[in-house]
Amino acid sequence: MGRFDGLPIREELKSFEPYGAPQLDVPILLNVNENPYPPSEDTVQDVAASVAEAARGMNRYPDREFLGLRADLAAYLAHESGAQLEPEQLWAANGSNEVMLHILQAFGGPGRTALSFAPTYSMYPEYARDTNTAWVTGRRAEDFTLDRSKAIAAISRHRPSVVLLASPNNPTGTALPIDVTEAIVAQAAALGSVVVVDEAYAEFRRAGTPSAVSLLPSYPNLAVSRTMSKAFAMAGGRVGYLAASKQFVDALRIVRLPYHLSAVTQATARAALRHAGELLGRVEQLRIERDETVDWLRSLGLRAVDSDANFVLFGTFADRHAVWRALLDDGVLIRETGPDGWLRVSIGTGEEMAAFRASLERILKTDTGRQS
Ligand code: PMP
Repeated sequence: MGRFDGLPIREELKSFEPYGAPQLDVPILLNVNENPYPPSEDTVQDVAASVAEAARGMNRYPDREFLGLRADLAAYLAHESGAQLEPEQLWAANGSNEVMLHILQAFGGPGRTALSFAPTYSMYPEYARDTNTAWVTGRRAEDFTLDRSKAIAAISRHRPSVVLLASPNNPTGTALPIDVTEAIVAQAAALGSVVVVDEAYAEFRRAGTPSAVSLLPSYPNLAVSRTMSKAFAMAGGRVGYLAASKQFVDALRIVRLPYHLSAVTQATARAALRHAGELLGRVEQLRIERDETVDWLRSLGLRAVDSDANFVLFGTFADRHAVWRALLDDGVLIRETGPDGWLRVSIGTGEEMAAFRASLERILKTDTGRQS
């Protein structure tokens, strides 16, 4: 008996499980790259008051074009990355996951191809699968950087309609140099492809790493996707967004469901943006903690990848699952992801990182912690 007997589920979906990291009730959660610091009571009160105000009009559908929120997001990007954008160049949805699904719905589809470079974010092939878009990957180098000429050759060979570039990349933390991004976007423009630079972790990037938003004025085929789930400490609010040309955004407006962004979500996001200073206030501390974590892992003789994000990929272990499990037994949940032998730890509070270090140090002294 199959799970879907009697149901006309699409053939290619039959063997899949719903995607998602384990949600386990343990004390130390370092597995989904959240910001570990909750909002202040002041911010909570402002969000609650804004949601109450939205509730007073909830007999009506929300503002379908949410231009108020789009203007606030444009102002945020002007402040954060110096971008000068019109509200019509911004788009938002329920997490950047949904933003990217909109992109695949608009630009992918049967007979079309999406291309990325592995190892990368594991949801990308799912957007492709769900929109009946063919999925192809090129490879990143041994150190997880992306070779410009190989990337360009892959685009010329596969002629994708969509290229997905995560920068900083998940799960490796690797940011793309802006000249490599630009070369790829230019090649894609020449072949009629769009490029999405997924900057979910951009606010954590190290000094001197520019955002791809600086390329937007020159490339109407480019979109830069961001999220409020990570540095912005709003994973529970489900707000992702992108910046692109007006034409690009107009294409997404065709495929979005009407009123996809609820009045509650819009009110929450706008209130959170008013408190951006506070919500992002711990980013510098998390960056320092990240760099210290890389140094600490290396001091133990492990490999750790330089990171521009709020997580670190480290290893390599003969049995990474056993190490993951042993950490969990100590109440520390990290992520078993990336190439075989590697594990990813999100950067938590100082206390959480101390618990992670104590547990890993203990495991490394046992047979479980064998390196490969
Ligand atoms: N892009 C990348 C690279 C991510 O790691 C994630 C979350 N893990 C997302 C996009 C999606 O985040 P959200 O839907 O919460 O905005």
